[in-house]
Amino acid sequence: MARIRLREAETHASRLPDVCMACGEASETHVKKNFRWYPSWVNLLIFVGLLPALIVMLVLTKQMSVEIPFCDRHRRYFGMRVLWIILALAGFITVWLAASAIVAATAEPQDVHNVPTFIAFTFVLSMIVSIITIAIIQGKTIRPDEITDREITLIRVNKEFIDALQDMRDARRDRMHSDDEFDGPRRRRDEDNDRDLRDPPRRGDAYRADPPRDRARHRERRVEDED
Ligand SMILES: [Zn+2]
Repeated sequence: MARIRLREAETHASRLPDVCMACGEASETHVKKNFRWYPSWVNLLIFVGLLPALIVMLVLTKQMSVEIPFCDRHRRYFGMRVLWIILALAGFITVWLAASAIVAATAEPQDVHNVPTFIAFTFVLSMIVSIITIAIIQGKTIRPDEITDREITLIRVNKEFIDALQDMRDARRDRMHSDDEFDGPRRRRDEDNDRDLRDPPRRGDAYRADPPRDRARHRERRVEDED
């Protein structure tokens, strides 16, 4: 399992190889997954307070969708992960409730005062085991390591998928170079498209470069010169 950085243009099905991102087999479908990410240091703000942590988290959270290719076996990849987490939590809570009920029902009269302590202790224990279980499931799942305005870095991605994507990128680059020899204008158009995706023009750029006020002033100056 490895990591891969995708530009925003590469998050669409047509720009990704037909290889399952989870297992490397031939893909059968694409699943549009909206990933969210915020820097992990934000979690430390919990120690400052829940509210500041939540506010910073909301401000810094970035999201990006990826049309992930999956084989038939992995078409419910993310749904199954959520199901496992729910089942694990339900399992631990059931065990904790059952153990608490049995202990409460069978406690000798002289031990009854220890029952609340036992229930609290086993609750904390089951929470710790639940958190570890969720962390293990999350740790084995395809997830973002970073999202910026233009790129997403995914980890736990199958190596075969990364190799296939690299081949696709190389083929695309070669095609651009061969177009350069036979069809200059189209290549330039492709490159322009790519450049646009890397650095989309912002509204107002033209005005910043040459604001209407400046243009008016130039015109005035020209008129003065002519006088
Ligand atoms: Zn698969």
